[in-house]
Amino acid sequence: MPVQTTENKAKGGGCYCGAVRYAISERPTVKGQCHCRACQYIAGGAPQYFMLVPVEGFSWTQGRPVTYTRPDLDTAVTRHFCGVCGTHLATFRQDSSDVVVKAGTLDDPSRFAPHVAICHAQAQPFHNVPDGIPVFEDLPAR
Ligand SMILES: [Zn+2]
Ligand SMILES: [Zn+2]
Repeated sequence: MPVQTTENKAKGGGCYCGAVRYAISERPTVKGQCHCRACQYIAGGAPQYFMLVPVEGFSWTQGRPVTYTRPDLDTAVTRHFCGVCGTHLATFRQDSSDVVVKAGTLDDPSRFAPHVAICHAQAQPFHNVPDGIPVFEDLPAR
């Protein structure tokens, strides 16, 4: 980590209904899939597919998301959703200068491929991990 990627830098995406959109102008530093229980809630049971993008390379370009931060957790992340359709677009962590962008919201998710699986200790028996990528039981050390 970080896993290097080679695709073009300019990318964008948005929510299911189109009310909220974003642009990405920096290359992602990590592409992965997270198997944690929180991600399972948000992704409909699946692992969540995500990219880490430096905050300076991420911007909202249309509409503004609503946010949710769990009040009962000291290190809670802040999740950004479309307030109209509910699509989870991005997560901001207190301890990181990267935005966690959800791969399913990219305009072209077909260009995404996970290079690492994290929080696998919480994976469900029906979760799959691509052959040959590193698997971390928890969050990898930064
Ligand atoms: Zn929406
Ligand atoms: Zn997770």
